[in-house]
Amino acid sequence: MHPSLADTRAAVFWLDREDAPTDAPALAADRRADLVVVGAGFTGLWTALQAAESDPGRRIVVLEAATTALGASGRNGGFCEASLTHGLGNGLAHWPDELPTLLRLGDENLDDILATLDRHHIDCAAERTGAMDVAVEPWQVDELHELAEASERLGVEVEFLDQDAVRAQVDSPTYLAGLWSRHSAAMVDPARLAWGLRAAAGSLGVEFHDHSPVRSLRRSGAGVEARTDGGRVTADRAVVATNAYRRPLTRIRRHVIPVYDHVLVTEPLSAEQWVAVGWEGRQGMSDSGNQFHYYRRTADGRILWGGWDVRYHFGGRVGPAVEHHDPTTQTLARHFFATFPQLEGLRFTHRWSGPIASTTRFTCAWGTIHGGRTAWAAGYTGLGVGASRFGARVALDLVDGVTSEWTELSMVRRRPFPFPPEPARWLAVQATRAAIMRSDRRGGRPGPWLRMLDRFGVGLDS
Ligand SMILES: Cc1cc2nc3c(=O)[nH]c(=O)nc-3n(C[C@H](O)[C@H](O)[C@H](O)COP(=O)(O)OP(=O)(O)OC[C@H]3O[C@@H](n4cnc5c(N)ncnc54)[C@H](O)[C@@H]3O)c2cc1C
Repeated sequence: MHPSLADTRAAVFWLDREDAPTDAPALAADRRADLVVVGAGFTGLWTALQAAESDPGRRIVVLEAATTALGASGRNGGFCEASLTHGLGNGLAHWPDELPTLLRLGDENLDDILATLDRHHIDCAAERTGAMDVAVEPWQVDELHELAEASERLGVEVEFLDQDAVRAQVDSPTYLAGLWSRHSAAMVDPARLAWGLRAAAGSLGVEFHDHSPVRSLRRSGAGVEARTDGGRVTADRAVVATNAYRRPLTRIRRHVIPVYDHVLVTEPLSAEQWVAVGWEGRQGMSDSGNQFHYYRRTADGRILWGGWDVRYHFGGRVGPAVEHHDPTTQTLARHFFATFPQLEGLRFTHRWSGPIASTTRFTCAWGTIHGGRTAWAAGYTGLGVGASRFGARVALDLVDGVTSEWTELSMVRRRPFPFPPEPARWLAVQATRAAIMRSDRRGGRPGPWLRMLDRFGVGLDS
């Protein structure tokens, strides 16, 4: 075992605190509502809050299988990015014509998130520090140059940093160059964000029920009916916000699969250790390989370090039984000290993983069923902290039958290419993971499998 992991606890750093809110009572009787929301992660919370803000009289009930922030929303890196397209490169590949609009909507979405924090006094340690991609291999320097040029063409403000400049920001001997986008991201404490959104929605009259998994959701009369073990909610409309989870709408799984992403958090660094690293800009950092790490400072002086491997479990299993994978944790720890050798001796206090809902195009997908009375939004891949507000806004318009600039986007109207059924799905994911690793070893050159996927505009990412 890597010595830095000797006393690491299997616990989510963001959730490991005494002041977490108490759970809402489980649904224990039948209820009637205008809107029922299934799932209380960011998508469900933003759905409930935006619906309550835009229509204060609306009766809204949120049903959550566990409790707020126990899914991906409380387990992520806290990079709240403006991008709705899982980055500029992916946006260019899929929606070159629509991209200027998507960029503007993404900026507005991030501004609106930060305005919501102010309006509802949500303290989630948000800092608009931006995000920086770093090149750790020569081929990645070329890619950063290309991204810088594309950004300039599209009017996106970025700064290309050569080796000295990037190391003056954050010091790692592995860095060759960096691309800093100063305004495109805020770092947040995701659990506090989720809890704050829930409190804000609650203050506007939204009713929450934790420990109330929805067993079935079906059409009922002119509306829908969500059944839980303790009662049912009949409502005019439903929004399903269960992201990587299978139920109650198994059909979402054609387009969205759960892949596990792993995270470590260090003990707080000493003042000398921070001097050795720099990082006064507190940017969110990512390296630029196909397999990549993302990392950031926490408000209390630790480093969160996650990413690299994505693990898919046959049949799309999610839950505690598949959450831990020691080899991935060990690899992450080794990579951390390769990046920051000056921190040798630092220890990790927390390790965990969470299910990322991934689509073949790496962005959210939407759909409606039950004659338009139910909408779903899922599959942000690794960039859902910010995009989930947009996902929820679109789902609300879809379920309310409103035609808006958002619902007319081709990103919204067209679903991602579906995943094949099992066992082909598992085999395709494993083949793609192996091809991605090979490509990173070969200077980023895609082999025949990745070239074939590229031709179809599909892939695997976290
Ligand atoms: C390790 C990790 C790191 C990440 N890092 C980042 C990052 O730094 N930046 C970023 O933008 N994105 C990141 N993401 C992705 C981001 O966290 C997600 O896209 C986002 O949280 C999705 O929110 P959600 O509400 O759609 O899903 P979730 O938060 O997963 O919420 C779904 C909810 O539905 C509930 N549910 C499931 N089934 C039922 C049912 N039958 N009845 C009732 N409730 C049900 C679940 O319990 C859960 O609470 C990361 C994800 C992971 C796992």
